[in-house]
Amino acid sequence: MPELPEVETLARDLRPHLIGRTIVRAQVYWTRTIAFPGARAFAQQIRQHQIQQITRRGKYLIFHLHGTAPRVWLVHLRMTGGFYLTPPHTARDAHTHVIMQLDDGTELRFRDPRKFGRMWLVENPQRVVGALGPEPLEISAADFCARLAQRRGRLKPLLLDQTFVAGIGNIYADEALWYARLHPLRRVESLTRAECGRLHRAIRHVLTRAIALGGTSIDVMYRRVNGMSGGFTESLRAFDREERPCRRCGTPIQKIVVGQRGTHFCPTCQRLAP
Ligand code: ZN
Repeated sequence: MPELPEVETLARDLRPHLIGRTIVRAQVYWTRTIAFPGARAFAQQIRQHQIQQITRRGKYLIFHLHGTAPRVWLVHLRMTGGFYLTPPHTARDAHTHVIMQLDDGTELRFRDPRKFGRMWLVENPQRVVGALGPEPLEISAADFCARLAQRRGRLKPLLLDQTFVAGIGNIYADEALWYARLHPLRRVESLTRAECGRLHRAIRHVLTRAIALGGTSIDVMYRRVNGMSGGFTESLRAFDREERPCRRCGTPIQKIVVGQRGTHFCPTCQRLAP
């Protein structure tokens, strides 16, 4: 599933192709991809809007549009959603559910084999992203630890909670906990101030590095706009490394299930009890 670094990479990859372009026609082939308004209204309303900026909030990709009325087009890729660009009149494959024809003739296509991806076209993006917690690369260590002190429960589910911080998913939660040397089942309320600071630094480290390398391609689902894989895959320390030696101590990485999510950690470096 694309997380913050993959969506950030997508926004950066798309900007040079799309900023300043006008959407002249939109076609929706799978109506449930459009969460708001209906598919027909979405296709009608997005026409003749110019893409002025492309940003990201949490795992949402955000197109800022200018037309008869300013509008915001938000996209959540969920499991397998992704965008690619094609010349006009390219055959549509079965997994392409939305096609935007642009004023320079190219087409922006949304492909989503699992069909869980969703789009919104709204005037106020807060109605979609208003409940998200802060951006993990923007919040200070002091604010992060103050937020954490208000929470209880296990560490890994908290990192996945988008109202706590926005944009971290299964891959980067496991990676951040490995760097911070914290067990995924540690109770949040048992963390010392030093451990919380370490976690904040670890999150910043893995996300910054993953963005620099263009994200992680664990399976064939995540591809960059140019078709390339994300470069962070070789840098993974815990995620998807079950039974392979910990890069710090050599102990085999262990996999457990936490909140129905496969969770990878080093039982030596990330002890539950101090
Ligand atoms: Zn280790």
